[in-house]
Amino acid sequence: MVGVAVTGAAGRMGREVLAAAAGRDDCEVVFAVNRSPVDEPIAGVEIESSDDFEALVADHEPDVVVDFTGPESAVGYADACADHGVALVTGTTGFDAAGLTELQNASESTAVLKASNFSRGVAALRLAVREATAALPDADIELTETHHNAKRDAPSGTAKTLLDDIEDVREDLGERVHGREGEAPRSADEIGVHARRAGDIAGEHEVLFGGSNETLSLTHRAGDRSIFADGALDAAVWLAGREAGWYDFFEVIDGS
Ligand code: NAD
Repeated sequence: MVGVAVTGAAGRMGREVLAAAAGRDDCEVVFAVNRSPVDEPIAGVEIESSDDFEALVADHEPDVVVDFTGPESAVGYADACADHGVALVTGTTGFDAAGLTELQNASESTAVLKASNFSRGVAALRLAVREATAALPDADIELTETHHNAKRDAPSGTAKTLLDDIEDVREDLGERVHGREGEAPRSADEIGVHARRAGDIAGEHEVLFGGSNETLSLTHRAGDRSIFADGALDAAVWLAGREAGWYDFFEVIDGS
């Protein structure tokens, strides 16, 4: 049984992780923290203050921390995990270069798995996008992502991952153009990037390939956030006990 600590426990994703963990027999939540106070248990788990995180780690000795918070908090948790030798699964997005470097530094002392998306469908989308990008070398490519109206970062972490995938295959694409306004003709070497925010949409990503007389559209829609929670807990169970290093969600899917 893998002992999991949950951060950002009262957030949208934290609540999903606690609910998903309650239905599994391969992991158990040993403690959960949130930045702002929470009076009521969530999925039967008392929520502690994130100020007590290090003491809780020392007391409960989790195998893995599952983190869905914000970039500054996630970096702080990564440092604490590195100090205590606890593995970290983080789904937090919006890191700047310095934050990413800090996460990678933590992976020298403990196992760290970061994924901008824990959906297996998005993993399949990434593979399909790479294939389509290679098969359509002259296509204009436009990416559109849609999320709920409280999402903080734009474009989404998943959108950035898809853009990295596309640029990895199409080295001629040199510029990401975020939205267009006014006189804005399209050039051949740009990728248009569009971020929509509305209602409670869990997450949609569409990559559009436009050629002469044909278009190809690859789209993933998350029905609800449980898919991300399930994937993150799959990653936590897979990561527990692994040596220090930087791991990828594709390794979890492969079961390697
Ligand atoms: P949310 O705002 O609902 O919850 C965030 C929680 O973390 C809150 O309880 C908040 O108090 C706490 N927190 C601690 N430090 C924070 C900080 N510096 N900034 C913001 N909140 C902080 O957010 P959410 O919808 O649960 O998403 C959390 C993160 O997970 C975001 O970065 C989001 O993009 C990402 N996310 C990733 C996936 C994935 O599959 N990887 C899926 C959904 C969301």
